[in-house]
Amino acid sequence: LAGVGSRLILRQGPTADILDSLVAETGAGAVVWNRLYEPAAIRRDIAIKASLTARGLRVSSFNASLLTEPSTLATASGTPYRVYSPFWRACAALAPFGRPDPAPGAVPAPEHWPTSDPLAALDLLPTRPDWSGGLAERWTPGEAGAAARLSAFLQDGLAHYKTRRDRPDIDGTASLSPHLHWGEIGPRQVWHAVSELIGSGALSGRDAQAETFLKELVWREFSYHLLFHFPHLPDRPLDERFAAFPWARETGDALRAWQRGRTGYPIVDAGMRQLWHTGWMHNRVRMIVASFLTKHLLVPWQDGAAWFWDTLVDADLASNSASWQWVAGCGADAAPYFRVFNPILQGEKFDPLGTYVSRWVPELGDLPPHRIHSPWEASAGELADAGIRLGTDYPAPMVDHLTARRRALAAFEQIKREEPAVTTDPRNPELAL
Ligand code: FAD
Repeated sequence: LAGVGSRLILRQGPTADILDSLVAETGAGAVVWNRLYEPAAIRRDIAIKASLTARGLRVSSFNASLLTEPSTLATASGTPYRVYSPFWRACAALAPFGRPDPAPGAVPAPEHWPTSDPLAALDLLPTRPDWSGGLAERWTPGEAGAAARLSAFLQDGLAHYKTRRDRPDIDGTASLSPHLHWGEIGPRQVWHAVSELIGSGALSGRDAQAETFLKELVWREFSYHLLFHFPHLPDRPLDERFAAFPWARETGDALRAWQRGRTGYPIVDAGMRQLWHTGWMHNRVRMIVASFLTKHLLVPWQDGAAWFWDTLVDADLASNSASWQWVAGCGADAAPYFRVFNPILQGEKFDPLGTYVSRWVPELGDLPPHRIHSPWEASAGELADAGIRLGTDYPAPMVDHLTARRRALAAFEQIKREEPAVTTDPRNPELAL
């Protein structure tokens, strides 16, 4: 901003009040912003827009964080999409999405600069204790950090994305989610950069790998589409049968063991510890830990979503809520409830050498790879060689996989007699944003 003759003004307080004082202090004739799409933000912004407009200000808001407005796409019968594949086709048919404009060379300055609160006054950094070391190791927040990530991914990751994206032991995904969430890069920038590479032929026959990546970007759009049309997505199951699901009654101990990465299932514990340390977890492992919590432990998906909300650097109301509902089996286009991930087989398939588990659960690192996902099957000699006392150095599994699976399926039987009932479009009153 300084480079284009402007300044960043920091203020904190209720948005409407702060805007009012800034308008008064600067004599502004217009207020311009990029939209947010969480239901509370939509309500707030509509009220602000109405009040500023009534006082004669020009007010404009824009879409910077999505490929297209969540209200643009509708099925042939005019209802919101609930199935991903047709949503993807409809969304991709809108491409090319508007190319982001280059940054302006100059930004006009107001006659009188308003004062800014000092950054330190916001008290944003943790100090007692400073728990942010792991986050700082992994992330470079800001526009430059986002651009560096994208360019590294385009160079080394995109051409192999489809092949590697499910492997938590390989750095095979873009790691762009926090940057996208915080607006440090926009999805249209990402879309154009990828499309240009496809168009240039530089991927030498690996276009399908890149298309899979674009489809993931559109899962984010789909999540926003769902949140916009079903604003209760963060709280209530889209499939209403699940309101009567017999979740376990006492879940405190189970939830805590899961949060701390002490379930006794190595791939689950590795994921939960990666999350705690870095603020991020690989997508495949997010699915495994979410399935484990909701199906093996019968803990309500909202409790898992709340923990992710507190700990993820990319915590996003739309993607988090839609994904938890998807895994729990109660969301739009959801994985069927009866598909219960087997954490042992998932570990063996997607972390075949146990590299990911060794990194995050180092106490298991000396086990042979064929035992690392099921240490309870190791012989006494193998455990002794690896220096592990099961139940002391690392927990014994808190539930038996087959028993837990049977219990989950029995719980599902209790609600499945009814037909799936997805809430019909409640006609989001905020559609006219
Ligand atoms: P890549 O694989 O490189 O994908 C590129 C981009 O596409 C991502 O940055 C993301 O913006 C988008 N994307 C990819 N997969 C999905 C998906 N399934 N749903 C929506 N967008 C997707 N993602 C969040 O951004 N915030 C969340 O709070 C969040 N919570 C999740 C909770 C659960 C239980 C699950 C299973 C998934 C969740 N995801 C969430 C989706 C996904 O795990 C992350 O977007 C992804 O792991 C981010 O890493 P990446 O940037 O390397 O992804």
